[in-house]
Amino acid sequence: MKEVIHSEIRRFVREESGNRFPGSAGRYFDEPLVGFAAADDPLFAQYKSVIGSFHLTPLELARSGQPSPWTARTVISWVLPISEETRRSNREETVYPSRRWAKTRQHGEAFNASLRRHLVCFLQESGYQALAPQTHPDWREYGTTPAGIASSWSERHAAYAAGLGTFSLNDALITPRGIAHRLGSVITDLLMEPSPRPYADHRANCLWHRNGSCGACIGRCPVGALSKEGHDKTVCRDHVYGTIPRMVGERFEVTSTGCGLCQTGVPCESAIP
Ligand code: SF4
Ligand code: SF4
Repeated sequence: MKEVIHSEIRRFVREESGNRFPGSAGRYFDEPLVGFAAADDPLFAQYKSVIGSFHLTPLELARSGQPSPWTARTVISWVLPISEETRRSNREETVYPSRRWAKTRQHGEAFNASLRRHLVCFLQESGYQALAPQTHPDWREYGTTPAGIASSWSERHAAYAAGLGTFSLNDALITPRGIAHRLGSVITDLLMEPSPRPYADHRANCLWHRNGSCGACIGRCPVGALSKEGHDKTVCRDHVYGTIPRMVGERFEVTSTGCGLCQTGVPCESAIP
């Protein structure tokens, strides 16, 4: 069943028109990576201390807000790598994201949401229970936590648990297809073997954390949100959700723009450096 699910996610990304820039054959996302984590993996309980007690486990999500509670067994996580052409366009930028990047943040993420919905329906039609944490009624965003701005489900932490990548100096996830991507996940009661986590620790793919080199993302940030001490989420958020949409949102005809300057023009852009 793992291969069936993997194939269906790949097919959806390859064939669905929602993964295309309007009026163009160009895609928002290239072929996805898919990983599987056990729903009762102790990592999900640990996230309550790493992120905050508000972070929900797969077991809690499946027991709450459902027509009838069920037992979560597997978390399916995916990485949608942002296309080469879009990454190239963003490499040229120094203050605001490129038009293609901004369109991907808004319309590509809408496609990612449709993939979540599709996979939930696909599993349900195959006789299993399924939910997408991002659209669960208990999903909340928290503005002030010890970990900064956080929510009750972290797609990055789910992807880490599913063996898809490790955390970086700029607070993103470096996967085998790099750091420029969107992530998604679905929880199901279908029992599947977890993917291996092929890394020595939770920061192994970032050069700065691995051997103290690189730091290229620091120089790419136009507002000084990155330093050797890490990522200032508040400064980043003000730029990404305040300044950028105000300055280029209307011109690019989007309300969400992202930024991604620290995810392009860096050694981890499209691979593990
Ligand atoms: S640019 Fe270098 S330091 Fe920054 S996240 Fe990538 S590998 Fe780590
Ligand atoms: S997303 Fe943009 S503002 Fe935020 S840290 Fe990266 S470069 Fe800086």
